[in-house]
Amino acid sequence: MESAARHFQDKNALGFGGGKGIGKAVVVEWARRGARVAIADIDLAAARETSAEIVSLGGCAIALEADVTSEASISAAIAETEAVFGDIDILMNNVGAALNGNPEDIPLSEWMRITDLNYLGTVRAVTALLPKMLARGTGHIVNTASFAGLYPYAASRMPYAASKAAVIALSESLALYLEPQGIRVSCLIPGPVVTDFMASMTSWTKDCPIRGPGSEFKVMMPAEVGVVLADAMAAGQILVPSDDAVWKTLEQWAKSPDRFIKGKIDDFARGEAGMPVIANA
Ligand code: NAD
Repeated sequence: MESAARHFQDKNALGFGGGKGIGKAVVVEWARRGARVAIADIDLAAARETSAEIVSLGGCAIALEADVTSEASISAAIAETEAVFGDIDILMNNVGAALNGNPEDIPLSEWMRITDLNYLGTVRAVTALLPKMLARGTGHIVNTASFAGLYPYAASRMPYAASKAAVIALSESLALYLEPQGIRVSCLIPGPVVTDFMASMTSWTKDCPIRGPGSEFKVMMPAEVGVVLADAMAAGQILVPSDDAVWKTLEQWAKSPDRFIKGKIDDFARGEAGMPVIANA
């Protein structure tokens, strides 16, 4: 079995949504550990910027324009990566977007858009690359979920929470199926991280309050998450929360899911929105 230190050395990685935020930090960390990375993003300028940053640090990277809502675009990104680097060892499905609002105010088209981007985008890339990984009996698939899919708190962004719960369920089932066949699966489950993610969130309900995962969590920097994920991948970890403190929250949930949900209802009624702590705030 390969050593943890060599998990990324001379590996070829393709990261969808690697241009900015968490995805950028992840591919930068992989490149720092010796991987060649293809950064596939709908924002080609951001992908190019990240690629140039990696190259300036002595790493190997290329930038590709890709849209994970299109099967053809995903296939083209895979083909371009293979043409430049060879077989893809690591696939990251990191694209995600959210919206805010009460469920009765959110049009069905928006529920479908979020599902298509956050969940089906991952399914598209996984199913496109899987035959090749299975034939080679090796590979590592990384899907990005969220605390919002892990336990109930995101009442103001239900399409997002449901899509991320689907990414977690998919990743767990993929691990059951693929790990015995030599293919590793890791599901990155970030808590709150400083990116432009929330700033670009649209709201469908006027003054709809945003609820957070709990005030016991700190807002993390993307680079910290990149290190957590890379270490966990090398260690063969399947579910990878950005912050281990979440296991304590899940223990509370597991003791009595009903009591946990009712506790959240009471918290919100008292005006406790569960917002995370911003360091140095
Ligand atoms: P971000 O908006 O900074 O990054 C998302 C990236 O995806 C961007 O580079 C964007 O250009 C790209 N993208 C968007 N639509 C695309 C498409 N159709 N095809 C290809 N690329 C596309 O956000 P982030 O905070 O870095 O989020 C990354 C992931 O982490 C998301 O899945 C998000 O749901 C998840 N997450 C973020 C947080 C947080 O607090 N920031 C918390 C939990 C989970």
